[in-house]
Amino acid sequence: MRIDLHTHSTASDGQYTPTELAEMAAAIPLACWALTDHDTVAGIKEASEAAGARGLAFVPGIEISTQDVVEIHILGYGIDAGHAGLVERCREWKSDRDHRGEWIRDYLASIGVAVDLAAVREIAGGGSLGRPHFAAYLQQIGLVSSRKEAFDRYLDTPEFKRHTDRRKPTPEEAIDLIHRADGLAVLAHPGNYRLPEQQLEALVARLRSAGLDGIECCYSRHSRGQTEAYLSLMRKYELRTGCGSDFHGERVKSDIGLGLEYDGAGSELIIDHIDRKTEGEEERNE
Ligand code: AMP
Ligand code: ZN
Ligand code: FE
Ligand code: FE
Repeated sequence: MRIDLHTHSTASDGQYTPTELAEMAAAIPLACWALTDHDTVAGIKEASEAAGARGLAFVPGIEISTQDVVEIHILGYGIDAGHAGLVERCREWKSDRDHRGEWIRDYLASIGVAVDLAAVREIAGGGSLGRPHFAAYLQQIGLVSSRKEAFDRYLDTPEFKRHTDRRKPTPEEAIDLIHRADGLAVLAHPGNYRLPEQQLEALVARLRSAGLDGIECCYSRHSRGQTEAYLSLMRKYELRTGCGSDFHGERVKSDIGLGLEYDGAGSELIIDHIDRKTEGEEERNE
């Protein structure tokens, strides 16, 4: 079964519009698709309509950047994209990202790299401003030859982080917000954090107490060994698994394609739980 519960559109730093993503997902076809833009639900309405028109199973989602010992991403699934509290927080995050754009410009100027912020905003096309837009700009002006080089040399260094860090919620706040918006909260790509095993387990234990519902064990950049380690952590803490690629489009992340074969070895997927939750609610409402 091919699904994708982790994708980005032009509403954040992805290459394709929600409608284009729905078209691609339907053409594969994916058994289920979720849109999980960074800190925004701006693409959900379009995605939901485009998926509906193509008979594609769709789950409204979000990926919230939070700050802990390292930056931790929390995915929300089955959220009500019209929830007033969530919409308001997304508005703040978009504005924070916009301000961070100015800090990034100032920081790059301080190390001798002149950035035309209007040109970067044009690349973002009205979507939530992210580092990949700056990477695209640096490539466009010929300063770097690849997006990776832009991150390695400029956008993912300790100095960059020190000068451009924006306010971010804690993982606990993100989990609480997702729950208030009727969603389920999943720890994204545990392999990305490069935490020692014990530290990752301590994080999972702590977030479990805060209501975490799942771990994204199945992820495009996890090795088989990592997937299995995370699945056993997931079982130990009685969680469910996510399964996503983190597709942004080949121009943004050239090595990641849309869709992932679900290899969770019989484990319960987070969206199965959403289905049951919906059924339960319908029963109660009847
Ligand atoms: P932002 O949320 O604006 O800080 O940017 C996050 C985006 O940048 C995500 O899509 C990440 O995958 C991407 N990103 C972060 N670090 C790197 C890196 N070292 N190389 C390539 N992409 C990165
Ligand atoms: Zn991204
Ligand atoms: Fe992420
Ligand atoms: Fe992502």
